[in-house]
Amino acid sequence: MRDAQAKPTQAGPAENGRFDAVIVGAGFAGLCMLHRLRELGLSVRVFERGSGIGGTWFWNRYPGARCDVESMEYSYQFSEELQQEWNWSERFAAQQEILRYLEHVADRFDLRRDIQLDTRVSSAVFDESAGRWTIETDGGARASAKFCIMATGCLSSTSTPRFAGLDSFAGPTFHTGNWPHAPVDFSGKRVGVIGTGSSGVQSIPLIARQAAQLFVFQRTPTYTVPAHNHPLDPGVQERIKGDYAGLRRRAAQMPFGFDTRPGEKLALEATAEERRAEYEDRWARGGLPFISGFADLLYSKDANDTAAEFVRAKIREIVRDPRVAEMLSPRQVIACKRLCIDTGYYETFNRSNVTLIDVSAAPIEAITPRGLRTKNAEYELDCIVFATGFDAMTGALLGIDIRGRGGLSLARKWAEGPRTYLGLATAGFPNLFMITGPGSPSVLSNMVPSIEQHANWIARCIAYLREHELARIEPTALAEDAWVEHVNEVAGGTLFPSCNSWYLGANVPGKPRVFMPYLGFPAYVQKCDEVAAKGYEGFAATP
Ligand code: NAP
Repeated sequence: MRDAQAKPTQAGPAENGRFDAVIVGAGFAGLCMLHRLRELGLSVRVFERGSGIGGTWFWNRYPGARCDVESMEYSYQFSEELQQEWNWSERFAAQQEILRYLEHVADRFDLRRDIQLDTRVSSAVFDESAGRWTIETDGGARASAKFCIMATGCLSSTSTPRFAGLDSFAGPTFHTGNWPHAPVDFSGKRVGVIGTGSSGVQSIPLIARQAAQLFVFQRTPTYTVPAHNHPLDPGVQERIKGDYAGLRRRAAQMPFGFDTRPGEKLALEATAEERRAEYEDRWARGGLPFISGFADLLYSKDANDTAAEFVRAKIREIVRDPRVAEMLSPRQVIACKRLCIDTGYYETFNRSNVTLIDVSAAPIEAITPRGLRTKNAEYELDCIVFATGFDAMTGALLGIDIRGRGGLSLARKWAEGPRTYLGLATAGFPNLFMITGPGSPSVLSNMVPSIEQHANWIARCIAYLREHELARIEPTALAEDAWVEHVNEVAGGTLFPSCNSWYLGANVPGKPRVFMPYLGFPAYVQKCDEVAAKGYEGFAATP
C-alpha cells in the first residue's frame, strides 16, 4: 500500500510555497475539498500527517474495523461516473475496502500531485497585513495561503488514559486508532482490551478467536445491535445504481443523512406487542436504524427504556452466564453514547478463553511491567489493546497552534468549549474553514454526505468571494453566539446530554462539557443554503 501511495505524482515539499488554499488532512474531507477547489482553478496544497491518504481509514486498521453505515451510502456522490463504476463487496465495507476506494478516488481524479504526505501541520497563523495564512509543519516547511481549510477529522486524535506506569509494560501495546501496518498476531497470547465502544466491540470478537486468553476491561457496558453484514448482492447494487440520485435525495431528508427508515409512531403510543414487533424486525435487519424505530426514542426516557430493555433481554438470551449477561447490560439511555453495531460481540463472552472484568467500581489503577492492576486484582498480560477512543471533534484542531486576528489562539477562544457558526467557521479567524467542525451534524450524520455538503458549501463561498472581489470572510460574533445557543437548545431537547459521552467531551479529563455535534441533517443543510442565498448572512465579508 505504501508503494502505491509513494507514486511520483505525489507533491514534493512545499518550501516557501504560496497557494490559494491549504487543506490539512487527506481523508474523505481533504480529498473532496481538493477536488472542488481544483475545479475552481485554485492552487492547492494538502498536508497529511500519515504516510498515506485515507484519514480515519488509514489509521484504524484494527481487526474488524468496518463502517457502520451501509457501503452504498458511505461514498461520494460528486461524480456519477464514480458512483457507477465502483462496486462494493459487502453491505458494510471493511477498512481495507474503504481505503482502496479512497486510493481509487485519488488516482481517478489525479489528486496525489497536490498532496504532501508525512507532513504534520504544527501551526497556522493569520497575517493580518497580508490577509494570508502561514502554515508551518513539523519538518520546518512553510506555506502561505489565502484560505486555510481544516479537514482534520472528528475522530483522529487518539485518547489514551494516563494510567500510572503506562510506559512500564514489558509487552507491546496498541491503540485501535493508530494500529500498526504490519499484521499483529495474538496467537497464544494473553491479551487485555481496555474499552468497549465501537472499536472494542468490533475488535474483541476477532481478537478472542486468536488469543489464548482475552481479558476485556469494561467501564461502561455497551448497547450493540447485530450488523448482519453480508456480501452485497450485485442485483441489489445494480438496482440502487439505476437511481443513485434518488437514494441520495431520500437519504438527505433523513435526520441522520442516511436511510434509517425512521418510524413516525411514538413508542409510548404503541402497544407492547407493536413495540416488540418493531424492535424484532429492526434487530433482524441489523444496523443503526434500530434506534429510529419510533419517533420518541431519543426524546423520551420512558420511550427509550423500552428499546433499552429489548436489548438487555437480547443480551440475557445470548449470553449463557447470567452474571456475565448482567455485567454486559447497559443502564444508560440507549444511543446516548454512540450505538454500536457488531458481529458476534455478546456471543464472544460465551467463549471459555474470554473474561469480562468490570472496572467501573474497581478501576484500573496502574499498568505494570507484567500487565495491569485494578483496585481488586492483578492481571498478567502479554499485550494490551487500548480501545479507549478519541479526543473527538476538537482534539485534532487544537493539536495545531491556530492563531487568527490579533494573534488570538483558537485554544484560548475555545477554552470553555468550541464556538463556531454552522460548524464551518469561527469569528476572529478569517478565511479559515472547518469541514464537519463542532456545531455541524458531522458525527451525528452519515459522515461522507456531510463532508461533501461542507466541501461544496466552502467551494461556493470561495467562488462567491472571488466573483464579488471580496478578500476575507468570517462569521460575526452575533451569528456565532446565536448558532452556539441553537446547537445547545436542540441537544437539550434530546436525551443525548444525559450520559458521559465523547459527544460531550466527557471522555477526556478536563475537557469542557459541551455537546458538540448538531442534530438534524435536513434542517442544517437548509440553513446553510439559506445563509449562502442571502449573501452569506451572519458572515462579514470585506474587500
Ligand atoms: P469510545 O466510544 O470513546 O470508547 C472508548 C472506550 O474506552 C469506552 O468503553 C470507555 O469507557 C473506555 N475507557 C476510556 N477510558 C477508560 C479508562 N480510564 N478505564 C477504562 N475504560 C476506559 O471510542 P471508540 O470505540 O474508538 O469509538 C469512538 C467513535 O468512533 C465511535 O463512537 C464511532 O463514532 C467511531 N467508530 C466507528 C466505527 C464504525 O464505523 N463501526 C468503529 C470504531 C469507531 P466509558 O464508556 O466508561 O468512558
